[in-house]
Amino acid sequence: MTIFQRIIDREIPADIVYEDDLSLAFRDINGQAPTHILIIPKQAIPSLAESTDEDTPLLGHLLMVARKVAVQLQLTNGYRTVINSGRDGGQSVNHLHVHLLGGRPLGWPPG
Ligand code: AMP
Repeated sequence: MTIFQRIIDREIPADIVYEDDLSLAFRDINGQAPTHILIIPKQAIPSLAESTDEDTPLLGHLLMVARKVAVQLQLTNGYRTVINSGRDGGQSVNHLHVHLLGGRPLGWPPG
């Protein structure tokens, strides 16, 4: 079981900013920008690499939640969405999640 499953199960606290039947969004504990939100599916998919064609609606849903949370948190100057996958992608929690970053200009390319 991952730490994100424990957040879904309310076993450990999180600063939740959005929730619906399919997903949960909360503040990253080690924010890399003034606003840094993680959007996760309640259904535990380990990574984007391990998702399947059947997950297409759920993956789309996560991006729509990112858009709604960006509006809710007033990221009017723009924002970035990131999905790290696997070791080289820098994924550290094996429960698929979308990072939503904003509140400052973000550099490109990422490291
Ligand atoms: P990644 O490296 O893409 O797998 O992202 C995992 C993210 O989860 C990191 O940015 C961590 O700071 C964040 N994180 C880990 N544990 C927690 C937690 N308990 N609550 C909120 N964010 C967390």
